[in-house]
Amino acid sequence: MMIKPKFQLDDVKAKAQGLWMDTIFPRFNIEVRFKKKTPCPACGGRDRFWYDDKNGNGDYFCQQCSAGDGFSLIQKVTGLSFPESIAEVAAIVGLDATSNITDADREKWRKEREYREKEQRELEQKMRENIARKAESTFRNAYQGDFSLYLKNKQVDKDPKIKITHDGNLLIPAYDEHGKIWNVQTITPDGQKLFIQESGGRTGGCFFVIGEVQPDLYDAYIICIAEGYATGMSIHMATGHPVALSFVANNLPKVGAVLRQKYPNAVFVYCADDDSAKENTGLKYAEEAQAITGGIIVLPDFTKIKESVA
Ligand SMILES: [Zn+2]
Repeated sequence: MMIKPKFQLDDVKAKAQGLWMDTIFPRFNIEVRFKKKTPCPACGGRDRFWYDDKNGNGDYFCQQCSAGDGFSLIQKVTGLSFPESIAEVAAIVGLDATSNITDADREKWRKEREYREKEQRELEQKMRENIARKAESTFRNAYQGDFSLYLKNKQVDKDPKIKITHDGNLLIPAYDEHGKIWNVQTITPDGQKLFIQESGGRTGGCFFVIGEVQPDLYDAYIICIAEGYATGMSIHMATGHPVALSFVANNLPKVGAVLRQKYPNAVFVYCADDDSAKENTGLKYAEEAQAITGGIIVLPDFTKIKESVA
């Protein structure tokens, strides 16, 4: 269908300023959030879309389907032509134009968007399951060695539930609350830490427990929560308490939340890494976790440790 605009594009743009997010996009069932990473209304995904309206024309950026203004987003999502998108927006902002889209159109676009999002979620789930299988078989089939330079350098014990490979790597499984392995962390002899294909794999909310949690229905019992193996094992050796590892700092709140569900009566002790040199991420995430689950935070005093080894 050909529509000859009875107005100038510049007039439509001027009238549309400030109306894109709350008035114009919703008419096409397009949802955007201001300066937040979201799925792309046109091509789905997870964090690939960014709406900032930087020129006031409904401007956005998508890592997958590139950047554009509000007219281009409407065209991508709905399949309308450029003149059609201008005419529709003109009608919405009160310029002399007749709208040709119907509720049925809007409903169709909404369904299409839901389908794209569902497809994307299924794809991601498949990737996570693939990596979970790989992690499980890597851990199960590891050809065992018995010496880890990393453990020796850090002067910490081997938990019986982790493995040392024949070439001296540590393998530490990342479990969910049901005991399913989703990933496995490798720590090389020189201390590099790697997950299997970090991008597609799941680590969020997954953990490993050094020692054993023995839930007590009546008395308070302590679970320490730390980031990495060496720190966690030092705490376990010093205190005898079980230590759950979150592997990375930003996983502390998720692991705390999962463990809170599983052990409602436990007292949590978050053993934050001292990252004071780099923006205190350890403490920041420990505080976030503590706000969710309660418990206490302890920070290691590395100056004391330094003095004692000097
Ligand atoms: Zn896109």
